[in-house]
Amino acid sequence: MKRTAVYPGSFDPITFGHLDIIKRACVMFERVIVAIVHNPNKSTLFSLNERLDMIRNVIGENPQVQVGSFEGLLVDFLMQNNTGVVVRGLRAVSDMEYEFQMAHANRELLKDIETIFLMPSEEYTYLSSSIVKEIARLGGDTKKFAPESVGALLKKKFKK
Ligand code: ADP
Repeated sequence: MKRTAVYPGSFDPITFGHLDIIKRACVMFERVIVAIVHNPNKSTLFSLNERLDMIRNVIGENPQVQVGSFEGLLVDFLMQNNTGVVVRGLRAVSDMEYEFQMAHANRELLKDIETIFLMPSEEYTYLSSSIVKEIARLGGDTKKFAPESVGALLKKKFKK
């Protein structure tokens, strides 16, 4: 088994679904790099720095998990980190089309790339960052969906 895997995503914000995938990836790999995709053309609720701080805070002291970010191609980030393994989460069949497209496109760019799809625990299959944002925006409690610290940050954002 290859030792390092990269888990890329927007993480806007990080949810229990993402954390479930990170936990599963940690069983399979020695090192997991959570890589925030920085796309200046895509608007996000949390800035890149806010997401870096948020995720580092949620992960805490875990020598197995690293948190980073990249702008541009995932394959370049993979090469910089000497790995060809990507982890993505699959919630439902509806995720599949997009994920396959991305995985194949990445493989066209770098042939030695493997994308591994992990399924979260059933209770998180309906969970997405968008849903968590929507609940927070409407003043709902997000504690079943994301860590308390993330809930507090969401509250602050929507108070403004
Ligand atoms: P992206 O914009 O790259 O889709 P996301 O942060 O939405 O970024 O998702 C990153 C990865 O995490 C994707 O593979 C997505 O399918 C997965 N993911 C998101 N939410 C969940 C969840 N609740 N359970 C499992 N995987 C999830």
